[in-house]
Amino acid sequence: MEFDRVTDILVVGYGFAGGVAALEAHDLGAEVLLIEKMPHGGGISICSGGGCRTAKSAASAFSYLRKTCNGTTPDRVLEAFADGMTRIDDWMAAYAATSGAKLLVVEYPGNYPFPGFEDLGFTMYGELPNFDQFSYYPHARGLRGGARHFKVIEDNIAARGIEVRLGCPARRLLTDGQGRVAGLEAEEGGRVLRIGARKGVVLACGGFEAAEDLKAQFLPGPIMPAAFRGSTGDGIRMAQKVGAALWHMWNVHGTYGFRHPDPDYPFGLRLARLPDWNPALERRHDMRMAWIVVDGDGQRYMDEFPPYMQDTGHRPMDFYDTGKGGYPRIPSYLLFDEAGRALYPMAIPSFNDTEARAGWSADNLAEVETGLLKRADTIEGLARALGLPEAGLAASVAAWNRSCKEGRDAAFGRIPESMMPLATPPYYGAPVWPIVSNTQGGPVHDEHWRVLDAFGAPIPGLYEAGELGGIFGFLYLAGGNLAECYIGAKRATAHALGLEASTRIAATR
Ligand SMILES: Cc1cc2nc3c(=O)[nH]c(=O)nc-3n(C[C@H](O)[C@H](O)[C@H](O)COP(=O)(O)OP(=O)(O)OC[C@H]3O[C@@H](n4cnc5c(N)ncnc54)[C@H](O)[C@@H]3O)c2cc1C
Repeated sequence: MEFDRVTDILVVGYGFAGGVAALEAHDLGAEVLLIEKMPHGGGISICSGGGCRTAKSAASAFSYLRKTCNGTTPDRVLEAFADGMTRIDDWMAAYAATSGAKLLVVEYPGNYPFPGFEDLGFTMYGELPNFDQFSYYPHARGLRGGARHFKVIEDNIAARGIEVRLGCPARRLLTDGQGRVAGLEAEEGGRVLRIGARKGVVLACGGFEAAEDLKAQFLPGPIMPAAFRGSTGDGIRMAQKVGAALWHMWNVHGTYGFRHPDPDYPFGLRLARLPDWNPALERRHDMRMAWIVVDGDGQRYMDEFPPYMQDTGHRPMDFYDTGKGGYPRIPSYLLFDEAGRALYPMAIPSFNDTEARAGWSADNLAEVETGLLKRADTIEGLARALGLPEAGLAASVAAWNRSCKEGRDAAFGRIPESMMPLATPPYYGAPVWPIVSNTQGGPVHDEHWRVLDAFGAPIPGLYEAGELGGIFGFLYLAGGNLAECYIGAKRATAHALGLEASTRIAATR
């Protein structure tokens, strides 16, 4: 086959997974090229909290992952993942040294009371010397840790002189006569570029949060992306074209939040990040959630504060009413009072985009001025402003306030530490919609992150890493996606270079 350029390992996508795959390929002695379709790297990775999930023991992590994935991911893949979780601290420490970053290593139990949850942790890159994320990455906002994390990856890429081509989207994989992926066709500066890969192509090109066609096919209801327009499922489409099977497509990491008043603004605005809690552990006392959520009839219908709201918060909204023919909970309506308004900013906008930017005021009042938040002196007035039935909403708020007085949400079981009455006027409210932070689905892979076809056979030369084809097929483990960026990238690259390191798969059953 004829190529414009040939390398050993060709990595598609410059988020954390692509960055780590390129670093690993280089450190294992291979020639590597990293291509990225957007004008800058970072993907949704740069918007993230930056925390990687780690484990003290692979056996504990394996037990936990098994329950989390609920039969959707084979044990051998979970074993490899669990083993990787015990190595992440060392991997990150090596990269941190290049940037002069300190590692923040914390014990952080799993989100759910599943076996092994107590042995899990979180690792992040701490403050970096002379690094101000706002001036360094003016196009990106998120949970801060992600920007530090990407800076560390970028520093390491630069220190090794790895070639990165920005504005260079991969379009189609190229296979040889035996069905082996031998390279791909990309586009650069308006021309087609054929790039060959002697050892393998690693697709690290993220999820499908911004692919409306794929979301319509695979997800139970409409859902807005949280941060990034580049996640258009390109890796899924390219892998499908060469025969890949798909998994975990229905499962997204999501919650609910506001819509920007500008109808062209492409991202949902995720709500304030409140602490996660685990039903098996004593709860913190600083967990007040200022709001309740009601449907279009003004009725509460869910526990607004499940253990990991950022992961499953959207799920109750997906209910489709077959009698009425629609989603009566999309949009829903979020309500709070004056005491709630003063507690914290209600949303944390995130974006990695050269054009779309949103902010949020510390006291939530700028959003009242723009009309995003409606304000009224009475609940009935708020109902009118939001187009909700006055009597229905007033009854729901009265019932909620009684529950707060009793210290028990008999209807939906929301934890008492989070309960706040809506009792101090003025009252505030706005419609809220499901928001997907990131998808988990994509091509099926094995324990070496080789992409598998519909009959379970590896597609030679093709690997994936990161959020694309993630392992989480049922419930998510906070920090698991970033762990996946490291583990998938390291294992895929090693295998492609013939260093499959079978000893790395711990016998954890
Ligand atoms: C607000 C927020 C907070 C989060 N916090 C955390 C957290 O703390 N911990 C955690 O584990 N997870 C977190 N997540 C999820 C996590 O950030 C992602 O799952 C992970 O970063 C995905 O990394 P990735 O490298 O696979 O994909 P991405 O970072 O999205 O990178 C993929 C890259 O591929 C590029 N690309 C796409 N198509 C092509 C193509 N055809 N050709 C070339 N390039 C292409 C994209 O432009 C992009 O740059 C968070 C998500 C959000 C939105």
